Formats: sequence, C-alpha cells, structure tokens
Amino acid sequence: KSRLASVEQAPPDPILGVSEAFKADTSDLKLNLGVGAYRTEELKPLVLNVVKKAERKMIEKDENKEYLPIEGLASFRKATVELLLGADNDAIKEGRIATVQSLSGTGSLRVGAEFIGKFLPGTTAYLSNPTWGNHRNIFADAGVEWKYYSYFDPETVGLDFEGMVKDIREAPEGSVIVLHGCAHNPTGVDPTKDQWKQMADLCIEKNHLPFFDVAYQGFASGSLDEDAYAPRYFASRGIEIMIAQSYSKNLGLYGERVGALNFVLSDKETATRVLSQLKRIARALYSNPPVHGARIVAEVVGNPDMFEEWKEEMQGMAGRIKTVRQELHDHLKEIHPERDWSFILRQIGMFSFTGLTPKQVENMTNKHHIYMTKDGRISLAGLSSAKAGYLAKAMDDSVR
Ligand code: PLP
Repeated sequence: KSRLASVEQAPPDPILGVSEAFKADTSDLKLNLGVGAYRTEELKPLVLNVVKKAERKMIEKDENKEYLPIEGLASFRKATVELLLGADNDAIKEGRIATVQSLSGTGSLRVGAEFIGKFLPGTTAYLSNPTWGNHRNIFADAGVEWKYYSYFDPETVGLDFEGMVKDIREAPEGSVIVLHGCAHNPTGVDPTKDQWKQMADLCIEKNHLPFFDVAYQGFASGSLDEDAYAPRYFASRGIEIMIAQSYSKNLGLYGERVGALNFVLSDKETATRVLSQLKRIARALYSNPPVHGARIVAEVVGNPDMFEEWKEEMQGMAGRIKTVRQELHDHLKEIHPERDWSFILRQIGMFSFTGLTPKQVENMTNKHHIYMTKDGRISLAGLSSAKAGYLAKAMDDSVR
C-alpha cells in the first residue's frame, strides 16, 4: 500500500478542466469557449507576425541560452514597466519601482502573494466577487488569507459599486485590495474613470495596498494606454501599488510564461530593498525566469516599427472580439427579442458573463457541445462569426 494512499483526488481546474472535456468530445459541432485564449475566425491559435519577426531576429543574432539574472532580462524589465506606466512616468524617473520578470501573470501574482505573506503577515487580500478562479488558490497557497468584496450585481448585470465601496471601506486598515486593471474576468464589467477615482480616494483614506492584476493591457479597448488607466492613475495619486503583468493575451505568448511583478513605492531606497527581497523569493521558487519570451517582448516594445505593428495586430484581435460580441448580441435579439441582451454589448474584453445558471451551462455542453465555465462565462475570443448564430440558438434554448 502506498504511503500516499490517503491523498485525495484534487478537483479539476474550473477553466482548464473544460478544455480537457472539450478534447474528449468527438462532435463536429463542438465549440470551446472555456479558456481565455485568442482564436482566429477559423478558430485556430494565432502567433502574431511581430512575434515571428522577433524570433527570426533572435536566431540571426545566435543568442545563447545562459541563465537570466534572478530579476530577469534588463531590457525586458525596462520595456515592461514603461509599457505599463508610460515612459515619462515620475515613479520611473525617480527610480521608485521594483520590477521582477516572472512567470507570466500567475507567477507574478504568486511572487506578490509570497511577499505579502512574508512582509505583511496577517494582512488579508480582498478579491472581487466573482473573480478569476485562480486568485483564491494563489493567495491561499502563499498563506495569505483572502476575503471577497462585492463587485457584480446580477440584477443590473453591472458593477455593484456601492457594495464594493462599502466592503473596501469596512476592510481593516492596510488591507491588500486585488483589482483587475481592465477587462474584469469573468464579468467584463469595469469601474468608470470616476469610480476609479473614488476607489483611489478610499485606498488613501484606509491606507490599503492595491494589487492590480493587469492581464489584458491593450486587449480590452485595443489601446495600451487606455487599458492602463487605473494603475497609472493610482500611481499619479502617490499611492503605493503592486501590479502583476501578463503577456499571454496581448502578445499571444501564453506558453512562454512571460510577465512581471512591479511595486511602485514612495522612495528609491525602499524600492531597492523590496527588489532584493523579491529576488530572494524568486530564487527559491524557480531561480530565474525563462529567457525566450522576455527577448520577444524587449524586441517588440523596443523597436518602434515592430511596436507599431504589434499595436495594429492587437487592434485586429480586439476588433474581432468586438465584432463577434455584436454578432452574438444581434442573433440573440433576433431570435429572442422579448429579453434584454444589451448587457453583452456593455461588457468589455475577452469574455461575456452570460448569467446562465450551472444547469443551463450543462445544457449548453451536453446538448449543444458548447464548452464554457460553470459560472456562465464565455470566451468570445474562441467564437467565430460563422458560429455566432449557433451559439445564440443554444443560449436561447438553454434559457427558455
Ligand atoms: N489574471 C487574470 C484575471 C487572468 O484572466 C489571467 C489569465 O487568464 C491571468 C491573470 C494570468 O494568466 P497567465 O498566467 O497566463 O499570464
């Protein structure tokens, strides 16, 4: 008998488990709207042209495969923080930022959670209700207690701003508040600029530490600057913030695991010490980050021609998602006009939070071969114009 016989089966991942079920389905009708990964109109994965170009350059330069420094590739670290906060940002000029390249959004969040567990013991992290399924595990596994703050109002299919303010005001002084920088996952509902301003006031009042999760910069609106509004605004107010960045979606580098964790701090000396501790954490977790994706980002962001080309390709992706969003809405309105589907158009980013119940989601999958997460979220990035009508019919069937 194994000494590990008492180890229980872990539950399947709520998002990646959907992909596994999708793979096992043999129907021609099947459609995977579970995972948030961009697909072309032909429903194929996309490698951006600028990425291919950057990779060809790397081959030409005959780059080696030596270890990176613990904190990552210097040119990447410079590029990533400038992309996030704007190259002329005061905090950058004043050297008040600690940046480590890490393992995409997830790894950056985890290093941040480890830091909180180690240096702010007893601090609770507040997560939006609902949130991306992995946030809870990331904080819990780092030994950081988490709680929810109100976020989504199913009645209006919009933001419950009053509830959000109330919960964040009632959180103990100095709590960590995890905020989605843009394109909230799974709801697609973001605060307005005025609401961000009130949120910043509240974080100052309560001395909270906002931790932005920026997984969709450029992917929500198509503009890198527009999508970075919230963390830039908070930084401009002199609030100390943490920011996790991911290049999975906006550069399509999913499997390369490229991202960063940034701390914007009040002074340079603190930034230097924080960086030293982030390196200490990273060294024990994974030693140093992968080099390939970091070189791609540094090349694309650092080269003006390629940067422009990237922005065009990103707008292409964001535009295609907006198109299928509109088409899904129009099909639904046509076949089921008595119901209000306008929330689909109000939502931002890769996802639509449909309001389908777990039972209705079961019907979508079992009867229509449409795979999505149980919370009723669909990834519009996995939908084509050709399949929008089919999806609308299945949704209509499921809610009737
Ligand atoms: N944060 C949010 C809100 C996400 O939706 C995702 C990806 O789906 C991530 C972080 C991290 O993804 P990755 O680790 O691939 O960068």
